[in-house]
Amino acid sequence: MNKGMNKMLLEFYNLEKRYNAQILFTGLNLTLEKQEIIGVLGPSGKGKSTLLKIAAGLVRPTKGKIRVNAGCIGYVFQEPRLLPWYSALDNVALALLPTGYTIALARQRAKLFLDQMGLSGFENHYPGALSGGMNQRVSIARALAVSPKLLLLDEPFTGLDPDLRASVRARMEAVLVRTRAGVIHVTHAKEELMTSTNRIFTLTAQGLIPGE
Ligand code: ADP
Ligand code: MG
Repeated sequence: MNKGMNKMLLEFYNLEKRYNAQILFTGLNLTLEKQEIIGVLGPSGKGKSTLLKIAAGLVRPTKGKIRVNAGCIGYVFQEPRLLPWYSALDNVALALLPTGYTIALARQRAKLFLDQMGLSGFENHYPGALSGGMNQRVSIARALAVSPKLLLLDEPFTGLDPDLRASVRARMEAVLVRTRAGVIHVTHAKEELMTSTNRIFTLTAQGLIPGE
């Protein structure tokens, strides 16, 4: 294997995605290297969420190839996507079970990550008893707790109270320094990008264009 391949975390090659007659993008290319943090900007409806779903293998492109070289993926969906019949603690702990944690250790680690998101005391609340912003923070804790090598962020800070945004982002950045995950962060709001962003692209019908 050549050196380039070992450094590669994710590659999009000539992707096209259409829904019936609607073409979201075509000829989209990207190579994400390990530990690289990429920001993707674009107004609503351009296909940002769809691009992340393609990266995670949840949606198929209509053309092109993806290669992912990440053991574990963390995904902060645009909506929290929590299981309503599990507590905040167990929503996070459940994500850890496939990675080999026992239930007791998974809950211990889940509590740690909920604490980091300012949710101490809310571990046993169900999603229905938490605000939208709190559920969003549970979903961020869930994505970070699995120690992902690739982190997919879909407007993760948009639903948070403005006074919480900066602190949640700072905590996420601190975790990223430790885990050295590569990141694709899509958002319509440039000011929400991480301070440690390495490259910024704009999503267009012709793919990812460097810059804002
Ligand atoms: P963004 O995240 O940039 O707002 P999305 O990826 O959510 O954009 O959606 C882009 C476009 O694709 C929208 O017009 C949306 O209606 C359409 N779309 C997304 N998912 C589907 C789907 N499953 N079926 C049909 N159209 C879809
Ligand atoms: Mg979206």
